[in-house]
Amino acid sequence: MTRSRLALLLVLAALVAAFFVFDLGRFFSLDWFKSQQAAIDAFYRSHPWQTAATFFLIYVAVTGLSLPGAALMTLAGGAIFGLVWGTLIVSFASSIGATLAFLASRFLFREAAQRRFGDKLRAIDAGVEKEGPFYLFTLRLVPVFPFFVINLVMGLTPIRTPTFYWVSQLGMLAATIVYVNAGTQIAQIESLRGILSPGLLLSLAVLGVFPLIAKKAVDWLKARKVYARWPRPARFDRNLVVIGAGSAGLVSAYIAAAVKAKVTLVEKHRMGGDCLNTGCVPSKALLRTAKLLSQIGRAQHWGIRSAQAQFDFAEVMERVQRVIRQVQPHDSVERYTALGVECIEGEAKIISPWSVAVTSAAGKRTLSTRAIVIAAGAQPFVPPIPGLEQVGYLTSDTLWDLRTLPGRLVVLGGGPIGCELAQAFARFGAQVTQVEMLPRILIREDPEISEMVAERFRAEGIDVRVGHKAKAFRVENGEKTLIAEHAGQDVRIAFDQVLVAVGRVANTMGYGLEELGIPVTKQRTVEVNEHMATLYPNIYACGDVAGPYQFTHTASHTAWYAAVNALFGRFRRFRADFSVIPWATFTEPEVARVGLNETEARDKGIACEVTTYGIDDLDRAIADGEAHGLVKVLTVPGKDRILGVTIVGEHAGDLIVEYISAMRHGIGLNKILGTIHIYPTLAEANKYAAGNWKRAHAPQGLLRWAERYHAWMRG
Ligand SMILES: Cc1cc2nc3c(=O)[nH]c(=O)nc-3n(C[C@H](O)[C@H](O)[C@H](O)COP(=O)(O)OP(=O)(O)OC[C@H]3O[C@@H](n4cnc5c(N)ncnc54)[C@H](O)[C@@H]3O)c2cc1C
Repeated sequence: MTRSRLALLLVLAALVAAFFVFDLGRFFSLDWFKSQQAAIDAFYRSHPWQTAATFFLIYVAVTGLSLPGAALMTLAGGAIFGLVWGTLIVSFASSIGATLAFLASRFLFREAAQRRFGDKLRAIDAGVEKEGPFYLFTLRLVPVFPFFVINLVMGLTPIRTPTFYWVSQLGMLAATIVYVNAGTQIAQIESLRGILSPGLLLSLAVLGVFPLIAKKAVDWLKARKVYARWPRPARFDRNLVVIGAGSAGLVSAYIAAAVKAKVTLVEKHRMGGDCLNTGCVPSKALLRTAKLLSQIGRAQHWGIRSAQAQFDFAEVMERVQRVIRQVQPHDSVERYTALGVECIEGEAKIISPWSVAVTSAAGKRTLSTRAIVIAAGAQPFVPPIPGLEQVGYLTSDTLWDLRTLPGRLVVLGGGPIGCELAQAFARFGAQVTQVEMLPRILIREDPEISEMVAERFRAEGIDVRVGHKAKAFRVENGEKTLIAEHAGQDVRIAFDQVLVAVGRVANTMGYGLEELGIPVTKQRTVEVNEHMATLYPNIYACGDVAGPYQFTHTASHTAWYAAVNALFGRFRRFRADFSVIPWATFTEPEVARVGLNETEARDKGIACEVTTYGIDDLDRAIADGEAHGLVKVLTVPGKDRILGVTIVGEHAGDLIVEYISAMRHGIGLNKILGTIHIYPTLAEANKYAAGNWKRAHAPQGLLRWAERYHAWMRG
């Protein structure tokens, strides 16, 4: 705690302590006020302004310090100044006092609360940022919630101070008038409790929920407005049309069919989308062969004197296609038709909130539907670098047609896709230069994790160029050349092929979003709310097209919300939960992560403890000849609650599942330590990491006593 905070805390604590030590509370009782009322009235008549000012200041002090007495003072306000002036004085004094308490709480505790509970508070903060005034107004109107608690708690949220002030003043007005009015009849009041009858309390509670009802009504009106220019069909041919049969679209359609909805899935290119045809499946198939080659090259490491691999790159790429064909039935028209999904091969265009036109080989037809799920995916982003079009380039879409290994390959991009493919091509024998504008590859991971991968890349002969900004492509002396800027200097890199892997951009054009006015975010994804709904409450989006993550498993995850909310949203809508999102980069070493890493925790000001376990020490990893990597766990200080985990090493993406479950279901490190892990497995690394955490938290005092006890037992 900073000095200024400590000083303020001490002053406030001293004032509150003085209130109780000197029993000042006795001046805030009904009996005391009644006994002094004649004297106060007389003083008021002779000194009206001084009385009002003194009353105002005392009121601000009582509410600002969260002392008991505000209710009595409100009554006294009515008794001394009458209904109009009493309401005016009390309304301003209580709002100013509440805002002071709010500011004190924010200054003293918000930073600490963010540090300690930042991850938990994120959802609350987001809610308050969006609907904070509504919540506050409700809490203020219903006087069953102690006002001083509201002041202190709101101080921990991101609500703006002016908003807090005016919403408080408005929200407290009704109860203020009731109390001030009661105060004008103070002679008849026997106790503070009698002022609010159950009927009055109920009326205030109804007033309290009014803003929420009003908000629902506003939402309904807004929805009506967006639909206003579209004629609504009297009936619909189907419950759901899904646009795109990638991971997100397939899951949406599957769910709809499983709950017996009439669903049509429209795909313009290939069933299975990016993951099956140009993404996860081909890349992992390619990586597998590249890994085998790399292992053969290191055969001596496993005690084999010599081993050689002869291969033809074209055959490797043919195997990739075979793998795709083998997985294809999972995502096929036949399978989905059998599941009850109507599959149409054609290009979809939304022409109204309830109709989708489909152009296919058979012609054009229009489907009417109650709801639509947009699952149109993303495509490789190609930056507008001068000369790129002229030299020609590969992307993750076109790469799979290669049958000749490039001699010199530039991989533009140091993200997961760039890294996986750079390593694979280097292992096949291409001379790979990886060019990344940022200071390190895999920038989302902690620096030492990026470095572990970069070190391996360099050891395998990849020329890793970080801090290199691609400026232009040219043909110089008959050679394709990349001109990149590095530390203020131009660097030239000659190459035969360039693979552009600098990110993927959502498909948002050409299928009706523009005509319907469905907005796109700054990140160029379809704008959706927490229920995955677009501007139109019956049109949802999921997967890469909606983000915020671009993985197959997050596509399926968001698809669940989109499909369920689209079909059953009138009964209940589910908020998409992004609290525990894992991912893996399938390089060697493999990198897997869930939750926070150290860099993010520091940037967000979230306090954490870091525990690591080196996989180089693990029996199974040593036996496998893969003794490298680590498990890095972030926990809440002094507790075993997991905030995030990064695993580097063989099968990191599989190992991390234990931690994903733990985080999802609130299981801490103690329970992971108490779980039997099979010996000898790589999964034991998870337990040993938990063991390291436990050792660091061993009760040293108790252990000293145990030592003495054992010494005593030995006699
Ligand atoms: C090289 C590479 C490796 C990857 N590796 C992994 C990995 O290991 N793990 C992982 O989780 N993710 C990985 N991904 C990401 C993953 O592939 C995507 O996140 C996932 O496929 C997104 O699914 P989606 O359904 O949102 O989109 P997509 O799979 O792109 O599907 C969208 C579909 O919509 C269709 N479509 C678009 N517009 C229309 C229209 N108007 N009418 C009809 N159809 C339309 C498209 O043809 C497409 O088939 C990888 C990606 C790449 C490129």
